[in-house]
Amino acid sequence: MRGGSFGSGFLSRQQKGRAMHRRARYAQTMVRFTVLASGSKGNSTVVTGGQTRILVDAGLSCRELFRRMKLAGEEPETLDAIVITHEHSDHVAGLAVTARKLGIPVYFTEATHRAWMRWLTPRRQMSYAQWLEQCRKQAAERQAEAEAALEEGLADENDLIADAEAVEIIAGAEASSEQDIVVDTIAVAEKPAAVKDPAFLPAVEYFEAGRPFVIGDVAVSPFTTSHDAADPVGFVFQAEGARMAVATDLGYISPNVRAQLKGVDLLLLESNHDLEMLRDGPYPWSVKQRVLSRVGHLSNDAAAQFLEDGYDGQAAYVILGHLSESNNLPELARVAAERALSGHASLLANRLLLACQHEPLSSIFL
Ligand SMILES: [Zn+2]
Ligand SMILES: [Zn+2]
Repeated sequence: MRGGSFGSGFLSRQQKGRAMHRRARYAQTMVRFTVLASGSKGNSTVVTGGQTRILVDAGLSCRELFRRMKLAGEEPETLDAIVITHEHSDHVAGLAVTARKLGIPVYFTEATHRAWMRWLTPRRQMSYAQWLEQCRKQAAERQAEAEAALEEGLADENDLIADAEAVEIIAGAEASSEQDIVVDTIAVAEKPAAVKDPAFLPAVEYFEAGRPFVIGDVAVSPFTTSHDAADPVGFVFQAEGARMAVATDLGYISPNVRAQLKGVDLLLLESNHDLEMLRDGPYPWSVKQRVLSRVGHLSNDAAAQFLEDGYDGQAAYVILGHLSESNNLPELARVAAERALSGHASLLANRLLLACQHEPLSSIFL
């Protein structure tokens, strides 16, 4: 295990030297991986390479993301970009507010961006009279809000979403079938974009799975995953020779994913559920089937199977993530993975960690 105890408490000269060297190296090394949250209630990780800091998914509220970054010793203001794996809410819940607060670009695939926008601004049905009424109301609100909101920078995303939902409910309840018109709220909105459009982002960059791109000092390789989203991806990040993989939300590990996860120094791997707990657990059958399917989530057994026979054992750190709170226990995930790793002498150097839902994992330096 790296950084093991020195035992007696007295350090030999050589040991002191080594400790100094390690500290010095860490002070200079700028490759860092910090899981802020992992699980079905929110996923987010900070990847640092050289002078570049990337937020991978923004599945917690902006406030909570910033709180956890500070807890983990990361500075929110230094983030350069956000990259998104897919549009499920546990990966994007705080995206818009975070991107707007920091004024940084968001990297999506085009299909994921579209799916995310549809999720935030569904087309809604309302009568012409209701539409006029809404326009009048919004014009009045606009006047009142514009100054305050612009001064403050941004409204809280939750308020925006709640606002949008309220409009939808009112509109949906009273829509008359004869006079229905489809009103896209984005089109209706003649207001400060950042204030009223919940899908407004300071900048959007598109990438495609299978086509590596660069953000500052970090090379990013997105790869397709099998999951029930519009265009889900995992990532391998490379900086200063270190490779870090994010591979969660996987129905199964396809040959392509297996190939992508070769030669990584750090692997964040999904270990979502225990099969028996899922089978006997509280989810309705349809949801159980979805989780179990080839576009659902990876079980402890499937993750262990991969570690045992599909993985090259190169990573210094294997982090199990996206554990279900209803259908898994950290110990079950750990035991399954440990058993898989201990079966191979070559894998014993792999340090196994578990990412949590409710608190950040200490930064890992590579
Ligand atoms: Zn998902
Ligand atoms: Zn997820």
